[in-house]
Amino acid sequence: MKEQTSTSKILDSMDEGTKYSTPIFGSEASDVAMPRLKMNDKPVEPRITYEMIKEYLSIEGNATQNLTTFCQTYMEPMATKIMAETMEKNAIDKDEYPMTADLENRCVAMIGNLWHADPAEEPMGTSTVGSSEACMLGGLGMLFRWKKLAKDAGIDIYTAQRPNLVISAGYQVCWEKFCRYWDIEMRLVPLEKDHLSLNMDTVMDYVDDHTIGIAAILGITYTGKFDDVQKLDELVEAYNQQHPKLPIRIHVDGASGGMFAPFVEPDLVWDFQLKNVWSINCSGHKYGLVYPGIGWVVWRSKEALPEDLIFWVSYLGGEEATMAINFSRSASQIVGQYYVLMRNGFEGFKEIQERTLDVARYLAAELKEMGVFEIYEDASHIPIVCWGLKDDAGVEWSLYDLSDRLRMSGWLVPAYPMPADMQDTTVQRVVARADFSMQLAIKLVEDMKKEMDTLNKAKFVTGNTQGVIRTGFNHGGRSAVDKGEKVQTKAPTPQK
Ligand SMILES: *Cc1c(COP(=O)(O)O)cnc(C)c1O
Repeated sequence: MKEQTSTSKILDSMDEGTKYSTPIFGSEASDVAMPRLKMNDKPVEPRITYEMIKEYLSIEGNATQNLTTFCQTYMEPMATKIMAETMEKNAIDKDEYPMTADLENRCVAMIGNLWHADPAEEPMGTSTVGSSEACMLGGLGMLFRWKKLAKDAGIDIYTAQRPNLVISAGYQVCWEKFCRYWDIEMRLVPLEKDHLSLNMDTVMDYVDDHTIGIAAILGITYTGKFDDVQKLDELVEAYNQQHPKLPIRIHVDGASGGMFAPFVEPDLVWDFQLKNVWSINCSGHKYGLVYPGIGWVVWRSKEALPEDLIFWVSYLGGEEATMAINFSRSASQIVGQYYVLMRNGFEGFKEIQERTLDVARYLAAELKEMGVFEIYEDASHIPIVCWGLKDDAGVEWSLYDLSDRLRMSGWLVPAYPMPADMQDTTVQRVVARADFSMQLAIKLVEDMKKEMDTLNKAKFVTGNTQGVIRTGFNHGGRSAVDKGEKVQTKAPTPQK
């Protein structure tokens, strides 16, 4: 199947005209289409291949202006150097790369320490590809634990009713995957205007003796809000007093907040200081400051991690526990995580996170000042700013229009509907990261004002342009939910 058109040649038809001295853009390869459906027959010089691919990728926009993603878009040169130099090591080969394995264990210990894991309880954990894999593992830990307890309590775990997981409707899609892959009912606690995180008044109504656990979210992807884990722990503790045979435990999905709160809100109690928090995950590639993909999951104790989840691999003549779903992957992200932990130290992390928060709060204040926006989240915990249009904003344009206009200056600022029960509310969100410095925030504010002015003066063909051009910010979420079964996956939502 040739991709050849009348105007483009393909690599296969290249002659031997290119010499080492030929300038890159004088080469045959730069004069033809890059391979698409079938490999080219002949090799291409590396310098030319590099430039062609780089050029092709360069037109997709720059990561710094991508205010959609939670994922790191900057690492310093020495960090990328050590990562590039360790790419060939396979993280799972603990016996062959014991020093790398040692660095991974150190990361688990240090991150566990940030979350107040008590070494006396023998906390355990692992690196993962990201929070998705980490949440899967946290979820499986809950499932295996529940199965054992339920069996011991004489509950029919196979036929009567499926096991269920309780979580707020603002969950990230990995939890839906977890429930679907392992046939678990997803019990969603709806979000409401005055409950934009897990509703503490109703959450326990969703719990029964088939509940494997409750997932609390530290940094709801839609809004950046934190679930009140301390309050949840109190409610769970009261429940557990009444149900000693089938106690409920909490997994905290700290994908974004897990590597943020310890530095900027050391007094916030959400982690292993709480009795019923048995596992926590974070994305090393979000506020853990490493390029994608790395995540972490830690269980508070040996007891919290069911044996079924552990596989043993040989390590230095002995055995080492592994519990990842994935097998082979490069060790470079682990090395990168170790690098940023060591290089920044607690103080360095704190400085970076506080400065990022500062920029996000500046942005929130400016948006408030503009008068037409209702601010849902003003970077109260993590540097997320989330806003909607006021009911009485008196403008004809929608946030989708504003999002489109901002793209013209390179800014990616997604607009999307809120999840279940609030899907009529459209919001827009900025995720500030370390490389979104104040000067860029000032520029964004200027550009927003300019684009809003353009929109205010624009003539609309119809009164309602909402959703006409919905640019697809779908990073894996959804907006409509019906208590865990049928899922509408069409609506664009931001999830990263
Ligand atoms: C981003 C995110 C995830 C998924 O994390 P990845 O590292 O992208 O796999 C899970 N939960 C929450 C709350 C998130 O924000």
